Amino acid sequence: MLYENSIQKANLIMSLRSMGISSKDVLNAIETIPRELFLPSNFHSYAYKNNPLPIGFEQTISQPYIVALMTEALNLKGNEIILEIGTGSGYQTSVLSLLSRRVYSIERIKPLLVNALLCFKKLKLTNIVSKHDDGFLGWPKLAPFDHLIITCAIKKIDDRLLNQVRYNGICIAPVATSLNQQRLKKIIVKDKRENDIWEDLGEVSFVPLVSDYD
Ligand code: SAH
Repeated sequence: MLYENSIQKANLIMSLRSMGISSKDVLNAIETIPRELFLPSNFHSYAYKNNPLPIGFEQTISQPYIVALMTEALNLKGNEIILEIGTGSGYQTSVLSLLSRRVYSIERIKPLLVNALLCFKKLKLTNIVSKHDDGFLGWPKLAPFDHLIITCAIKKIDDRLLNQVRYNGICIAPVATSLNQQRLKKIIVKDKRENDIWEDLGEVSFVPLVSDYD
């Protein structure tokens, strides 16, 4: 099983490369984090397929390519403080934790967060701070963050979220452009919202952000 996994893992890394992921650090982090740990046991054999998979509560673990793409877009050097909205399984959080100083992560579904915390403990990832909450308004008490990553589809990125990112920090988020279309956006945050620089990273498919504030 272990041997089989390592072949599948190598194939996954090669396909991520062929899809355009070039950062060695990102590819190493994907190779290091055991994705099966974050999945229900009946999906373990699919862990290294490049697909999203169900994690319960109608939520999904992101596709490895999308995790790699979002992580690469942050251009991490290792000393950043990141805010993540939507911990989910904790897989993306774990990849980020290997490449940054600290990750703050918010999840609204408690059992998912409990499971993610168990995974962080097993992997001895000690630079993740999480809370069970509605993350629509971010974590203003701890702002500013170097970067913000949103892993659920948002209708509009509220200025109150972007105001929590430092100058030249990056926000990566799937934005719902219509009922069944989402685009992944990269925003380089400037001094004023009208000076922010928006880039489009392509079409994506995320579970929606659910919030009482929305
Ligand atoms: N990157 C994750 C995928 C997360 S799926 C992974 O690799 O597993 C998106 C997650 O966002 C879900 O767990 C969902 O419960 C959470 N979510 C949705 N709305 C939210 C909100 N308002 N605040 C915090 N988390 C939210």
